[in-house]
Amino acid sequence: MDVRRGSSLKPSFKNHVSDDNKMFEAKDKKVVDGSVPLSLGISNGVFFTVFFSVTYFLLTRWREKIRNSTPLHVVTMSEIAAIFLFVASFIYLIGFFGMSFVNPTPYSDDEEEEEIEGDVNEIVRKEDTRVTSCGAALDCESDVVVKHVIKKDLEHLPTETVLTEEDEEVIKAVVSGKTPSYSLESKLGDCKRAAFIRRVALERITGKSLDGLPLEGFDYESILGQCCEMPVGYVQIPVGIAGPMLLDGQEFTVPMATTEGCLVASTNRGCKAIYVSGGATSVLLKDGMTRAPVVRFGTAKRAADLKFFLEEPLNFDTLASVFNKSSRFGRLQRIQCAIAGKNLYVRFTCSTGDAMGMNMVSKGVQNVLDYLQADFPDMDVIGISGNYCSDKKPAAVNWIEGRGKSVVCEAIIKEEIVKKVLKTTVASLVELNMLKNLTGSAMAGALGGFNAHASNIVSAVFLATGQDPAQNVESSHCITMMEAVNDGKDLHVSVTMPSIEVGTVGGGTQLASQSACLNLLGVKGANKELAGSNARQLAKVVAAAVLAGELSLMSAISAGQLVKSHMKYNRSTRDLASKA
Ligand code: ADP
Repeated sequence: MDVRRGSSLKPSFKNHVSDDNKMFEAKDKKVVDGSVPLSLGISNGVFFTVFFSVTYFLLTRWREKIRNSTPLHVVTMSEIAAIFLFVASFIYLIGFFGMSFVNPTPYSDDEEEEEIEGDVNEIVRKEDTRVTSCGAALDCESDVVVKHVIKKDLEHLPTETVLTEEDEEVIKAVVSGKTPSYSLESKLGDCKRAAFIRRVALERITGKSLDGLPLEGFDYESILGQCCEMPVGYVQIPVGIAGPMLLDGQEFTVPMATTEGCLVASTNRGCKAIYVSGGATSVLLKDGMTRAPVVRFGTAKRAADLKFFLEEPLNFDTLASVFNKSSRFGRLQRIQCAIAGKNLYVRFTCSTGDAMGMNMVSKGVQNVLDYLQADFPDMDVIGISGNYCSDKKPAAVNWIEGRGKSVVCEAIIKEEIVKKVLKTTVASLVELNMLKNLTGSAMAGALGGFNAHASNIVSAVFLATGQDPAQNVESSHCITMMEAVNDGKDLHVSVTMPSIEVGTVGGGTQLASQSACLNLLGVKGANKELAGSNARQLAKVVAAAVLAGELSLMSAISAGQLVKSHMKYNRSTRDLASKA
């Protein structure tokens, strides 16, 4: 069937494409198995016959001359012709062992034409083959590679095989320091390519391979200017689920990103114990993000003047209207001051809707500082954050006053559930809690650490839902209480967490994976009906998951199962095997 362009016998498109594919297959086969086309087969046959015939003829003539004592250099016309044919066929046959003899060049023109009409995927596949066949060397600059590398290839090929001439130039510029690595996104206008080039340059500079750190499968545009600078890939963390968690009459499946074996399984067991006991109840006590700048005066008296001004209830409305200017959601709630000599620390607290709120509160604080400068021109703003906030550090101010969402969550676990599901007794749980979480932590001088492992659950849920993992520090402040109730039969368990800092908009929450986990909890993005209710719900879920985690781990410890289960689920045998 003639499937060439312009043929009068051109078949329907469907047949045409499939026939083209067959032709591609047939041609590929020819090239791959190295079989010789007909014309070449005939000429090979002729030259082989000529070569062996003239060789035989010349050897026979040589033997006769030796027998008849005829000088060898005396040659007849037929011998001259035979020598000529011998040399010619010999040269031809030498070529038989070289690539040029079976060179498929005669096909390249046809190939061009067929590629134009052929299936697009097939063309891409063929181009891929050529690119890869160039070898894995990063320095490969062959024209074939350069011409045929198309953007699509980046998605499918290992990094080292997909370098265009342009890429190569940019990489060299980064390696030599001519182009700063951080400027690649703005210079290239393509975040994925920037990450790819930065990564190859980094491998060349350090001589260290980044194999295993994935590059593909991530939307680099989505992190530009908000989540991560100078990306070279992304780290994978498995996400497990614990639940259903029955909380305030609603069921939640809690996503947890962790590499700690046992953690999800244990939290899941706690969820089960809570569920079959009728669920947990939570109350949000406070919701306000804080920022505390430090300002300095010439005297302690002037610092005190500002303190009294800021804490005067009559001034609050004016200050609030100045603070609230910069956001629809940031609403000033409170100002608390602390003096250290001539220095004043001003802790602003505001609601932040569904955002975790650090940016929002900082903008509001800046408005107020600018406003105060008119009445307090001698005020020297040392820093927008003076650590009295206090962000990402253990601090009593957060433990006592709260920061972000303050939540208390409780459940009553029935006696038989404590026995059947948690494999322990109410009395031993109550005793362990008193001696470990309360007395033991007091002995250790704990600050907000009156719990068994709140930070385990907080970190895992934070990572899964795109929270700032560094805020795990204060978000894990928690006091776990356990008491025997109902005549000592059942267990009342609670967690009180004064500073859970979470949001469902902004930061990492908008990234695809994290956003999917928020969606699983039904708290993705901004709540359209009641701003802030998604973030508040998320804080309650965090507290409930901590409650489940506390119950399960405390039970494991009181039943003496902890070491056993960790040996089973939380111990890598790979390294041990190699060391053995
Ligand atoms: P953060 O203050 O936590 O650092 P961002 O400033 O990154 O968060 O994100 C908050 C942004 O989201 C603000 O620009 C805000 O106007 C917007 N936004 C939209 N809907 C909401 C909402 N329901 N609650 C809070 N912020 C919202």
